[in-house]
Amino acid sequence: MLRVGVNGYGTIGKRVADAVRAQPDMEVAGVAKTRPNFEAERAVAKDFPLYAAVEERADQFGEAGIDLAGMVEELIETADVMVDATPSGIGAENKSLYEEYDTPALYQGGEDAELVDTSFNARANFADAAGADHVRVVSCNTTGLSRLVAPIEEEYGIEKVRATLVRRGGDPAQSGRGPINDILPNPRTLPSHHGPDVKTIFPDLAIDTLGLKVPATLMHTHSINVTLESDATADAVRDLLRDESRLFVIPERFDIDGAGALKEFALDAGRPRGDLWENCIWGESITVEDSGASKTHRNGGGGAAGDDLYLFQAIHQESDVVPENVDAIRAVTGSADAAESVATTDDALDMGF
Ligand code: NAD
Repeated sequence: MLRVGVNGYGTIGKRVADAVRAQPDMEVAGVAKTRPNFEAERAVAKDFPLYAAVEERADQFGEAGIDLAGMVEELIETADVMVDATPSGIGAENKSLYEEYDTPALYQGGEDAELVDTSFNARANFADAAGADHVRVVSCNTTGLSRLVAPIEEEYGIEKVRATLVRRGGDPAQSGRGPINDILPNPRTLPSHHGPDVKTIFPDLAIDTLGLKVPATLMHTHSINVTLESDATADAVRDLLRDESRLFVIPERFDIDGAGALKEFALDAGRPRGDLWENCIWGESITVEDSGASKTHRNGGGGAAGDDLYLFQAIHQESDVVPENVDAIRAVTGSADAAESVATTDDALDMGF
């Protein structure tokens, strides 16, 4: 059994801990928190050994009636792998701690790519993390783009990706985030950081990204255009994407019109926390057109071939990176290859609809 420690038990950390516990080959060695809030209470209720992340605040747990298993250093020493899910920038501060105990560590997308040996996406570059000490699981948006790019690149070749990312202002519990009544080009300059971030996974990919922020908390939505190196039909692309376990091509008959209905669907399906680990791609949005000057053939129905692919996808920011963290644990420890790990993770989580 791989013993996994989770440092930072917030939005991502608590989901990773649950996903790790669901795996047949892993156990949660413990989780570390800075303070005794509701998430600490829940961690204890779930029988996760709870460690204090900051020595000066360790007393607060006792005062709140919460028993600690120890300090985070003890967790790092006993764990085979640490998953750092602390806020952006804190992971970098923690790096020396993981090095001190010679424990490989995974970081999240809020950290710089320069911090680590490799950035990671299970579908695209699993093997690059073999034996690495420091691996960054790329952000929610970069994960969503990488999962989409990988099969399209393999099947058709990609001349260029153009993606407009309509980003949620904050997560549901982030009451201080915004905007609350605005639509912000964000950043106002091109490219947004997402394009360069995708290139940490696909160094040779031509990709331009633009970002906006809107008053929503549920999911991000991507408007995607991929110019292919060879012709495709919409039906063939739909079939290709359907074959990917972490791409959910939403059937038109579901009549899901946006992120609200998608989250409701996930809750109805019994998903923990209403999580959607998969990219959610609207099947009827998958369209190919001829990039030639005349552009006369509209192929939404899937008949004729073209080289300009369009689609919409929604990305659940709080959860799509969770299965990727689980796979990265196997990648750094060399305990499975990509296909084996993804299959095990998917099976344990009951991925797909
Ligand atoms: P979060 O604020 O929900 O959770 C972070 C947790 O770490 C909190 O419980 C916080 O109290 C704790 N913490 C703070 N300082 C700490 C320290 N020194 N030691 C241990 N714990 C500490 O943040 P999050 O949304 O889970 O984000 C974590 C990372 O994941 C960031 O790099 C972020 O960019 C990335 N990420 C976030 C999302 C998202 O949408 N929420 C998606 C993908 C990736």
